[in-house]
Amino acid sequence: MTVNQSGWRPEMQADAAGSNAAGLPPTATGNRALMLEEPLIFEIGSADRTGVDLEPAPAVTSRLGGLERGGEIGLPGLSEQETVRHYTRLSRQNYAIDLGLFPLGSCTMKHNPRLNEKVARLPGFADVHPLQPVATVQGALAVIHELGEWLITLTGMKAVAMSPKAGAHGELCGLLSIRAALEARGDARSVILVPASAHGTNPATAAFCGYKVENIPATPDGRVDVAALEARLGPDVAGVMITNPNTCGLFERELKQIADSVHDAGGFVYCDGANFNAIVGRVRPGDLGVDAMHINLHKTFSTPHGGGGPGSGPVVLSEALAPFAPLPFVEKRADGGFALIEEENAGEHHGSSFGRMVAFHGQMGMYTRALAYILSHGADGLRQVAEDAVLNANYVLRSLEDVLDAPFAASGPCMHEALFSDKNVAEGFSTLDIAKGLIDEGYHPMTVYFPLVVHGAMLIEPTETESKAALDQFIMALRSVAERAKAGDESLKGAPWYAPRRRLDETLAARKPVLVWEEPELEEAAE
Ligand SMILES: *Cc1c(COP(=O)(O)O)cnc(C)c1O
Repeated sequence: MTVNQSGWRPEMQADAAGSNAAGLPPTATGNRALMLEEPLIFEIGSADRTGVDLEPAPAVTSRLGGLERGGEIGLPGLSEQETVRHYTRLSRQNYAIDLGLFPLGSCTMKHNPRLNEKVARLPGFADVHPLQPVATVQGALAVIHELGEWLITLTGMKAVAMSPKAGAHGELCGLLSIRAALEARGDARSVILVPASAHGTNPATAAFCGYKVENIPATPDGRVDVAALEARLGPDVAGVMITNPNTCGLFERELKQIADSVHDAGGFVYCDGANFNAIVGRVRPGDLGVDAMHINLHKTFSTPHGGGGPGSGPVVLSEALAPFAPLPFVEKRADGGFALIEEENAGEHHGSSFGRMVAFHGQMGMYTRALAYILSHGADGLRQVAEDAVLNANYVLRSLEDVLDAPFAASGPCMHEALFSDKNVAEGFSTLDIAKGLIDEGYHPMTVYFPLVVHGAMLIEPTETESKAALDQFIMALRSVAERAKAGDESLKGAPWYAPRRRLDETLAARKPVLVWEEPELEEAAE
């Protein structure tokens, strides 16, 4: 990737139609060199083309009782090469961690080591079926068990539920465990407290479980207002959901005190562990009084995400919540073998489980990748992951705080992500303009307008896998865009100029999404 060192070059400014304001001729295809236009597969496919030679379909007899298909279903037909090119072209219109630094805050978009992929593709792991007899999948169960043991050790917790399939799903698992524990002691409570800086999934999960969500404000230094939280505790509060490190990229130093107060009031502490990457090997949430915490394997433990693969969100549980963990789970037997504990064999010991989160045991492919990542780093390597992630974020913070307002930088170093506001931009310019300008520089934008506690927030999480050279290039690009926003450079308002699509109407996309492709002729016929 080349970054435009000198900033904006007006002679290359393309107008909205894709031609060029400086007089360069538009191209017949709409392509600009390797920036390719690609139609939908339905627009290029045709029923009389196919990638394979199929036997003619046998005449359908009346076995379907009149329900047999009456005509073609309109699948696009393409040759093999057309198919390969279509998807390859589409993939080149997308941004990926394999293409460049992915600064999305809170998402931990780090390199996915190829070693993990190799391990996950070993036939003994890749080809197992969840309904195979347990005696034939002992190795797979050993992997799930060993990964679980690592997660328990790293977090200092009592038990782990491996089956949740993402962070938000893990939150659901944690809250269902809390509800089951409260119901078991005949103490149904109705309220979950959520700090203002929480990820949107936290209040959504609590509401989905039927709890009333109440907001706890943040202090001016970006942390939970402990006094406000303690004042709200009472017999109706089932628990709190706190992210640590929080979404301002700051460590919640009072978590132990908060947990003690919540426990004294009879509630439970859910910790959103999506940002575990910043503290893995350094802090054990179990020591801070946490009762349940999800871990995004696709963040901290480097399994692919963001369209690159399924998530996985194991939940570690305290002693108080462990009996309510969902089924099924893997248990090591006295003879060294592994058992899959399900309804049939749960017995008295596991009888309090709240039930199942998913049909089977979870994301096997993510377990193998995450364990490969953990074993290839070792405990010392994981500690260094956290240290380097924090170092890189602070490098970004300190390198840009002279041009972008960094609201909490005065109170000390950040954790895994650097947070900026739109305070320094010129009148009429916004965070959105900076994000769009970054696209022209060849980067995926940072997380914008989140967390809500900062005006026009820009949240940048570089992760530990970026080199200093990569960070310097990103910082230079963002600095150039930020300086244009500060100087009121009008050309920034039109960005992105170089992406396949110009600035989209995000309000219309959210309010009136068109999610189904309709054949143009049909549309015309309907009019
Ligand atoms: C990513 C994230 C989540 C949700 O995790 P998913 O795996 O995307 O469901 C929740 N909280 C925080 C702070 C996150 O960063």
